[in-house]
Formats: sequence, structure tokens, C-alpha cells
Amino acid sequence: MTNKYMYFIANWKMFGGLNSLNSLHKVAKFYKKFHKSKFAKIIYCPPNTLIRPMFKKLVNSRIDVGAQNCHENESFGAFTGSVNPRMLKSVGAKYVIIGHSENRQSGEKNKLINSKIKSSLNSNLKVILCIGETLKEKRKKITKKILSLQIKAGLKNIRNKKNIIIAYEPIWSIGTGIIPKTNELLDTINFIKKNNKKLKVLYGGSVNPKNIQTLKSINNIDGFLIGGASQNPKKFIDIIKKTYN
Ligand code: PEP
Repeated sequence: MTNKYMYFIANWKMFGGLNSLNSLHKVAKFYKKFHKSKFAKIIYCPPNTLIRPMFKKLVNSRIDVGAQNCHENESFGAFTGSVNPRMLKSVGAKYVIIGHSENRQSGEKNKLINSKIKSSLNSNLKVILCIGETLKEKRKKITKKILSLQIKAGLKNIRNKKNIIIAYEPIWSIGTGIIPKTNELLDTINFIKKNNKKLKVLYGGSVNPKNIQTLKSINNIDGFLIGGASQNPKKFIDIIKKTYN
């Protein structure tokens, strides 16, 4: 895996204040050297309140900033509490996560996710589309069916997919410390790639500095979406370093 282009996407969820940016220089310093020899791409997705200050902190670091969700409307509108992709782009976001299971669980359906992806792409944001099955679906052995449906509906009528990355995140793995079995994960990622040629496919769910030793051996994974561990710069750096060891 050493010479592969790998993504490391930090999902801070609803965590972090301005003081959380104080330790970012550690990651920037590490990456300044690291990127010269390894093909690693780092993207931070903080809460919306931190996008602009984080963008400013990371100027010239080659680390990109993204958002965790957006409204489906491209233009301004009377949508209290919402932020559209253009607004995110204007404050420095280059990427946006769409379809995270935490948002699907609070009611986002594939149709809405499809609209969000379209308006994000139209606003020149790159999209990280999250897909994944529940434990119940896994037990019923319908994982592949669920994933196919989420991709098909999520990417409906989108011809140009070059700015889309898929993040496979089994819901039962997020925040639980449990990761899929190596052969299962290899098989699932292969399945996604076979049906979606050229798309990068990342894995997300409880990635940490210990289990990265196992995960990095799964050679069809194009990177990781990291929640909890990404809030700690030391752990985040450790995960990146170990991926290439
Ligand atoms: C996530 O929420 O996208 C995620 C992968 O979280 P964690 O790493 O904490 O399981």
C-alpha cells in the first residue's frame, strides 16, 4: 500500500470550538514533510462554525477543509438554520460529506441526498458520499443490496462522477470500536468498485492507531474517514504514518 494515493478525512462531527484549532499546527507540520514522499491527502471536516478559521489556519499547508452536510438548495432561501453549498464554498470548503448515517438516521432519504449531491457539485464542491448498512441489514445478509440502492439513488442522473468519493461506513462500526472482518471488508469494497469503476472508495468506522495495522492490509481501500480519533492530532498523525509503514 505504500505508494498508493490515500485519503485521510477527519470528521469532527459536532465537536470543537476555536481553541480546538490550536493543535492543528502539529498536523500541518507533520504533513509539510510527509506529503513530499507519500501520496496522502488530508481533509478536515469541522463543524460549519470552524470552517473559515480552520481554512485560514491551514493556508499553504496543502490540507483541505470540508463541511459535514449542506442544504439541497444552491441559492439563498428562507431555510432557517441551514447553509447551502455555495455558502460553504465561499468560506473555504472544498469538500462536503453527504449522507452520513447520523443524518440518514435523523430522516435524510436517498432522494434528498441526491439533490444535495447535485447542488454541491454545481457549486464546485467535491462530495464524499457515505453509505453503509445497519447491523440488522448485515444480519439479514442484505448489505450489498442496501449499498447498491444507496449509490444508485444517491448518484441518480449524475453523469460526471469525477468529483465524488464513496465512504463505506457500516453503521454498526461507527463509534463502537468494532471493525468488519478483513475478508468481508475486502469483498464489500471490491463489490462497490466493481459496480462503480473509477470511484475512490474509503472505509470509515472506528479507525484508530491500533486497528489501522489490520485495515491497511486491505489493499483496495483508498483511504479512511475518521471520526473520534481525528480530534486528537497525535492519533490522527499516527494513523496516517502507520498506513504507509
Ligand atoms: C464517522 O462518524 O464518520 C466515523 C467514522 O466515526 P468513528 O471513527 O468515530 O467511528
